[in-house]
Amino acid sequence: MRSTGSWYEVRTEEGHILQCRLKGKFKIKDLKVTNPIAVGDKVAYEIENETENTAIIYDILPRENYIIRQSVHKTAHGHLLATNLDQAILIATLTFPRTSLGFIDRFLVTAESFRIPTVLVFNKLDILDDEMIAYQEALADLYESLGYKCLFTSAINNIGVDTFNELLKGKVTLLSGHSGVGKSTLVNAIAPDLDLRTSEISTFANKGVHTTTFAEMFEINPETFIIDSPGIKELGLADMEKEEISHYFPEMRELLNECRFHNCLHIDEPKCAVKDGVVEGTIAESRYSSYLSMVLGEDNRK
Ligand code: GDP
Ligand code: ZN
Repeated sequence: MRSTGSWYEVRTEEGHILQCRLKGKFKIKDLKVTNPIAVGDKVAYEIENETENTAIIYDILPRENYIIRQSVHKTAHGHLLATNLDQAILIATLTFPRTSLGFIDRFLVTAESFRIPTVLVFNKLDILDDEMIAYQEALADLYESLGYKCLFTSAINNIGVDTFNELLKGKVTLLSGHSGVGKSTLVNAIAPDLDLRTSEISTFANKGVHTTTFAEMFEINPETFIIDSPGIKELGLADMEKEEISHYFPEMRELLNECRFHNCLHIDEPKCAVKDGVVEGTIAESRYSSYLSMVLGEDNRK
């Protein structure tokens, strides 16, 4: 559920919380990461002290998937952020604060690279004027056409909140978004007893070592969990080669065989199906522009 340095909070199948440590030396296989275990991992443990609810983790079960926050130094090891996710939800707002399309696309590309299905939730519907609503609907049409489910919500006016609740049901969901988009308010609307922010603060006060760079899992009910990941903003473009990036744009992926050069970067190469797609309107200019800034290495994380 969460980790505080060398201690790991593990939820048992019965829903009890155990304070665990790792047994001896844990080998990190395959992944280039600094931490052996992350939120979402399924583990095997043996009880150490029954009255104190402590246990020793001696094995990690095979992972369905994972996301890694890349180190700013490409050569250094990354941080394993979360594992075994059913989906990621990006909460965005067109205004107050503005979530840029570059940020949305970067998030989608990262989730594609880790093969995590993603849903876009546009919150604060109530503060948009007609023009903004029309723009937001056009955006949702674009993203739906690419295979990303979209939802409009107003957490304070209770619009779309039931649908948001339905989206989460029975799943482990990574929830992300800029600070201020209404993540806590939305979660509170469906799980009033659970306060993401309060929890962060009290965890900090109790254990002293907790920082918000750790992802944390919260139980909404015994089948439904969310992972709050404040660090997602720094989620790098994984360990991606420039040539790979277009594979994570679904609308570009299907054109790649049609470019003259198999290693085409779709920038200024001749006979490029992606650039043709932009001219013909089958690829949205905003998506191509996000693509270019990722390939050219511009920082559009904000
Ligand atoms: P978080 O940082 O993403 O957890 O954002 P919060 O849930 O703390 O919300 C930030 C601010 O936006 C608070 O003042 C909320 O009351 C407000 N807010 C959240 N959802 C909505 C919404 O749907 N409409 C409006 N107008 N304000 C909202
Ligand atoms: Zn091309």
